[in-house]
Amino acid sequence: MQKVGFFRSIHVKFVLIYVMLILIAMEIIGLYFARELEQTLKTNFTTSIADRMSLVEFSVSEEMIKKRAADDPMTLEKSLQDVLSGFKSEDINEVRVINAGNIILATSALNNLSMVGQRSADDIVRKSNASKAQYDIINLDRKTRNRILVRATPIVVDDEVKGILYLEANIEKVFKQIDEVNRILAGGVAVSLSITIILGILIAQTMTRPISDMRRQAQAMAKGNFSRKVRVYGNDEMGQLAIAFNHLTNQLQESQSSTESERRKLASVLENMTDGVIATDRKGRVSLINDSALLMLRLTRDLVLNRPISSILGLEQEYAFEDLIQVKESIALDFSTEDQPYILRANFSVTQRETGFVNGLIVVLHDNTEQEKIDMERREFVSNVSHELRTPLTTMRSYLEALADGAWKNEEIAPSFLHVTQTETERMIRLVNDLLKLSRMDSRDYDLNKEWVEFNYFFKSIIDRFEFSKSQEVQFIRLLSSTELFVEIDTDKMTQVLDNIISNALKYSPDGGNIRFGITMSEDFIKVMISDDGMGIPQANVKRIFDRFYRADRARSRAMGGTGLGLAIAREMIVAHEGEIWAESEEGKGTTIFFTLPFELQEDGEWG
Ligand code: ATP
Ligand code: MG
Repeated sequence: MQKVGFFRSIHVKFVLIYVMLILIAMEIIGLYFARELEQTLKTNFTTSIADRMSLVEFSVSEEMIKKRAADDPMTLEKSLQDVLSGFKSEDINEVRVINAGNIILATSALNNLSMVGQRSADDIVRKSNASKAQYDIINLDRKTRNRILVRATPIVVDDEVKGILYLEANIEKVFKQIDEVNRILAGGVAVSLSITIILGILIAQTMTRPISDMRRQAQAMAKGNFSRKVRVYGNDEMGQLAIAFNHLTNQLQESQSSTESERRKLASVLENMTDGVIATDRKGRVSLINDSALLMLRLTRDLVLNRPISSILGLEQEYAFEDLIQVKESIALDFSTEDQPYILRANFSVTQRETGFVNGLIVVLHDNTEQEKIDMERREFVSNVSHELRTPLTTMRSYLEALADGAWKNEEIAPSFLHVTQTETERMIRLVNDLLKLSRMDSRDYDLNKEWVEFNYFFKSIIDRFEFSKSQEVQFIRLLSSTELFVEIDTDKMTQVLDNIISNALKYSPDGGNIRFGITMSEDFIKVMISDDGMGIPQANVKRIFDRFYRADRARSRAMGGTGLGLAIAREMIVAHEGEIWAESEEGKGTTIFFTLPFELQEDGEWG
């Protein structure tokens, strides 16, 4: 989490504002107080001066209006000098009397008597003369560097200025007092500000400490640690916030643990499902996939995550993500190779918010290969059966029609026509019997009547039967075993198997070829071999000869009366005996059929 800058922290802001407010308040109060004080002190000073001067003023004005004889030795100047010479007062340095023409008539400062009779250079004297008003100014005394109050008071008689009473008083004492008070005030402000700052820091701390606490708690919670608690310092708003915060922590912890357990449940359900499940985000990128889906798609998780779902399913050509959202029915995904069918079925469901906003897609994959294979086989089987039945039926119908049309009367062709219908009927019966046999084997509705037989002997008797009845020029070569081989088999069924294999070898062999019969023995099975020098089977189709209705050369096989079910039945029977059957063949060179049967090597003499 970002750190709060020093000047941005509430702590500092609070202290700053607090100090500012106090400073402003004190400034205003101090300013007002100082000004009032200065005013009062000055007024007091001037009033006391005026009080003391009132007598002098009266005496001076009396002298000024006195009528004097021309030869009176007490001239105005002398009389005034007398008045002033006797004047002495604290603070008042000097008093002068100046006439209307600005000439100094007398002074109280005896060391300044030289000024008498000279013109006054003072501005305020002239101004007071001119305007009949009293003027005050504060000047700096050149000698003592003290501040002095200079006052010019006009002496007005009958609305005429008779002269000016000029005085200089030492006001420095008043200014000193003001300075002293200001100093005390500044000291007070400094002390109270320091106290304010300390108090401010303390108060701010009480407010920010719970906040910092909560911040640390929130950071811990983000990391999944819910064990921390915020300390509650009091029952004020902060305290209640802390309580509420702790409550929130508890709630969050509970809901987090319940979501966590839900998540685990879901994950284990997903992992244990045999169906594949894929979930995408709202843009169609894979966000979750279970192991079954990976196995089905033969992909690894790193290859799949965050990739578009349509490309994972190999549907990018046909469907964009928006199309997949619309898909209502399932889609078959055909991953079959040439020799391996592999079909998956995908069901889609959209996860949506209440507003209809699409959050993503859930795809459930199901391996449908077996089902599809069975369906395909069933369709193929039905079509094969109908085809196999239709051919003889059509043949019979045409022959029967010919007979009905009068051929029955013809003694030469009627018997041969009847013979054809008879063979076709037999063929059909054989077909239906074969089908019944297969169907019984499919539904496991049969019993194997197993008995112990010596296989060399059993095999030899069947080969003998074929040798007696064979109509071709074929050489039988027996490569049988010299040791006795006892196996437990259903002799009827095994006879059918061998009949079919041997009759195939005869059927598909030219005159003059050889047919070899062999038995080899190994630890737990015997291997039987029947090999011919016949036409062979194309390499690609060797495996298929055990499929139902499969015939390498349909026309020839049908001409031989084959239905294509013989080896299919043989395989079922060998499998029922827990053996295996396979073929090796080269086109034009010949074919070998092998099958195995379980076998246990017996100790000599055990069978008597
Ligand atoms: P059915 O045995 O039902 O009378 P069929 O012989 O045609 O009819 P299968 O025995 O199942 O049927 O044989 C299937 C096909 O395998 C034959 O049609 C033939 O094309 C081929 N085949 C079987 N054995 C041989 C063989 N020894 N040489 C050449 N092709 C063979
Ligand atoms: Mg056959």
